[in-house]
Amino acid sequence: MLWRKNLKLFVIEKFCNYCLYLRVKILLLIKQLNIMKKPHLLLLGIFLMLNFLVSAQHKIQMIDIDHGNGFWQNAYVLYNTETKDAIIVDPGKIDQQIEDFVEENGLKVKAIFNTHGHGDHVGGNMHYKDLYRVAIYAHTKEAYMYRKNKQSISFFDENSVPKIDGFHNLKIYHIPGHTMGSIAMHIADILITGDTLQKEGIGSTPGRTDEEDEKYTQMELNSIRSQLMVLPDKILIYPGHGYESSIGHERINNSWLK
Ligand SMILES: [Zn+2]
Repeated sequence: MLWRKNLKLFVIEKFCNYCLYLRVKILLLIKQLNIMKKPHLLLLGIFLMLNFLVSAQHKIQMIDIDHGNGFWQNAYVLYNTETKDAIIVDPGKIDQQIEDFVEENGLKVKAIFNTHGHGDHVGGNMHYKDLYRVAIYAHTKEAYMYRKNKQSISFFDENSVPKIDGFHNLKIYHIPGHTMGSIAMHIADILITGDTLQKEGIGSTPGRTDEEDEKYTQMELNSIRSQLMVLPDKILIYPGHGYESSIGHERINNSWLK
């Protein structure tokens, strides 16, 4: 039957970028389970396959940057495994690890994003902008953070999120509180949260009065609850400092969100 043939061709074509072994295994499995005569298994198979293809397409590498005096910050290289397009997120400092990772994996850097404008997240911006000849993107509400350092930034808001090659499904959430233009970046199962949602904590900002601190902490918690905690438990969190986590882990273990 034609549709059976088409399905097989679809399977073969979609997996052509993967190893021959995997392709043969899948075709054998389809034959073995006689999956074509079991519509529920067929639908489940298609769903899992599409899910795998979408989530396998994007990966992330944490770059642990040493800012001295025991202070560390996480930059990230987010990349598309098929097209090799990449985004550098929060290059807080020039760090050879970033360039090495890009080179070793044959990546094409298409953009730099800042989750927010604090100095420890933007220190390497201009170096990587010049090196890879790409724009630096930040939320328009974050413009006040860049006034002193005079970096040339392309600002955007929810209605003008830049389209980056290899990242057409990238979602940006505006999550004010830690700063007014803080963002989270979401693609596949990956959620980069900057200094807003951390493993079992939230970002604080020194230099605010107690009154301001209370107001902005509430704003930050509102952002987290309304925009991040509505995501599924399986979503992995990559924060601006410290260890990775997941929405599910934070739902249970983050005392700020109780
Ligand atoms: Zn910060």
